[in-house]
Amino acid sequence: MGKWVNAKGWLKDYAPDNKTQAKQAAIQNFGEAVIFIRPRCPKCKSIKLVCYGIKGNIRYYKCLCGNKFKAIEKEG
Ligand SMILES: [Zn+2]
Repeated sequence: MGKWVNAKGWLKDYAPDNKTQAKQAAIQNFGEAVIFIRPRCPKCKSIKLVCYGIKGNIRYYKCLCGNKFKAIEKEG
């Protein structure tokens, strides 16, 4: 059986302020970045797409204009 702990302050590391600071620190300390090309609708060039399926390295997108197309992931 578990034991109740004196709860006061036990979540202080998870307080919203600390969490935000930790997140910002994690982002600032993040070392490497890679560039990815955002897919665009080949018909209307929009980037407002809905990904409706992923199979291996192929992603299936549907554009707001109704056009459906697939995006093939390229080895970086
Ligand atoms: Zn489109």
